[in-house]
Amino acid sequence: MSKNSPEKVMEVAKRRGFIWPSFEPYGGVAGFYDFGPLGALLKEKIIQKWRHYYVVKEGCLEIDSPTVFPEEVLEASGHVNHFTDVMIECKSCTAAYEVTDLVKEFTGKDIEGQSREEMKKVIENSKIRCPECGGNLGKIYDFNTMFPTEIGPKGVRQAYLRPETAQSIFVDFNRLQRIARRKLPFGVAQTGKGYRNEISPRKGIIRLREFTMAEAEIFFDPEDPSHPDFDQVKEENIKLWLAEDQENEVEKLTEVKAGEAVERGLVVNELLAYHLALAKKFVLDLGIKEEKMRFREQVSGERAHYSEETWDLEVYSQKYDWVEVAGIAYRTDYDLSRHSEYSDSDMTVFYQEKGEEEGKRVLPHVVEPSFGVDRPLYCVLEQSFVEEDDRSYLQLNKELSPIEVSVFPLISDDDLTERAVEVHEELKGEGIFAEYDDSGSIGRRYARADEVGTPYCVTIDHQTLEDSTVTIRDRDSTEQIRVKINELSEIIDRLLDGKLEFESAGEPV
Ligand SMILES: [Zn+2]
Repeated sequence: MSKNSPEKVMEVAKRRGFIWPSFEPYGGVAGFYDFGPLGALLKEKIIQKWRHYYVVKEGCLEIDSPTVFPEEVLEASGHVNHFTDVMIECKSCTAAYEVTDLVKEFTGKDIEGQSREEMKKVIENSKIRCPECGGNLGKIYDFNTMFPTEIGPKGVRQAYLRPETAQSIFVDFNRLQRIARRKLPFGVAQTGKGYRNEISPRKGIIRLREFTMAEAEIFFDPEDPSHPDFDQVKEENIKLWLAEDQENEVEKLTEVKAGEAVERGLVVNELLAYHLALAKKFVLDLGIKEEKMRFREQVSGERAHYSEETWDLEVYSQKYDWVEVAGIAYRTDYDLSRHSEYSDSDMTVFYQEKGEEEGKRVLPHVVEPSFGVDRPLYCVLEQSFVEEDDRSYLQLNKELSPIEVSVFPLISDDDLTERAVEVHEELKGEGIFAEYDDSGSIGRRYARADEVGTPYCVTIDHQTLEDSTVTIRDRDSTEQIRVKINELSEIIDRLLDGKLEFESAGEPV
């Protein structure tokens, strides 16, 4: 793979309609991106896969709640006081910078989690000046990164765009625990937009001011942090970059099985370890390679105000280095106890364990696997991009490919075109996401399909008119097979599901 490929993949992504900067005719606004026709489909497929893991298989209840929050909810959750970034401004040109980003850029050092005093010293000792104008930098201060807004015409109710989807799940807890029939553990999930008014985002869709999240909150009895299916994942290998190694500036990964991580006390409990393993499986299933994944333990000063222990699932990117795609946090009972207190409602669960006569009342603790959707989407695009001597293609996991099949007439001949249109309609009628393309040479059309990761191309040629067969071409191998038209949609379906091997799906061409 060539060194420039992250630039090339972004060029393809913009040109072909995956993603592009928002509000372009007005000069754009940093930190906002549009998902084009292909990007919107890809994103939806990533969310569907997440739903398959967390809602269908894990059984989380899924909700969908507002993105505008009244201030009192976010006061209770701690965001009004703690959802801050450390900012510094240039005294000459007033450009604003996020301090940890600025220091990382100048010195390569990660100072996240350090005190304001320490940060100030680093800025002074490294003689960091304004990257825009070379001017002197002013004081360091905290900047709340929530977007403020108002509810109602007179602005009587202060509000914010939600910084995470999780809060509604805590606020709705009493209704949800009844729906879950008061048993523990149980999970609730939500996907949707979250907002963070980043100080100076300059990292494409890695650092957005409006982003899509997919979060789950697993409520459990703190005296029993077990998962019924832990046996299924306890042999799963996970690579951990421990906080103590980071504090000693050692970039060493500790590779352990999930079960061993709990036994050795590296991960606080079984439920958290289960969710590390599950997050890894999900990200692997998106097509991210295992060797490009690690779990980084957040060091104490860096953790969010609600967290006792957090692991960032990081994916290596050629362009952005290690990118956090998920945070798996142990939030304790922080949120429920705060909302109980601030809303004056009892959020304990009264439940009886099987076989026990006496019930008990507990305030559940929470493990939270929280995914960004935009970031893994970028990583998937970057890692899928393959450049060979004579072609480049997106080797997307077939289930994620926005377009499932491209249908072409070999040449623009009336008979072939008519037949190709029929085949296209038929595939669409069977629920297959198919596009039709008759412009340019067949080679150009294959190249266009490869470029956006379409796994199969169906070509209608002269033989089709004689014996009602068509060719299917495989994106990755470029091999072709010939199949009967009346079996086409079923074959495509089974190929997409991975239930059929390409070589045995038809006659080799
Ligand atoms: Zn300046």
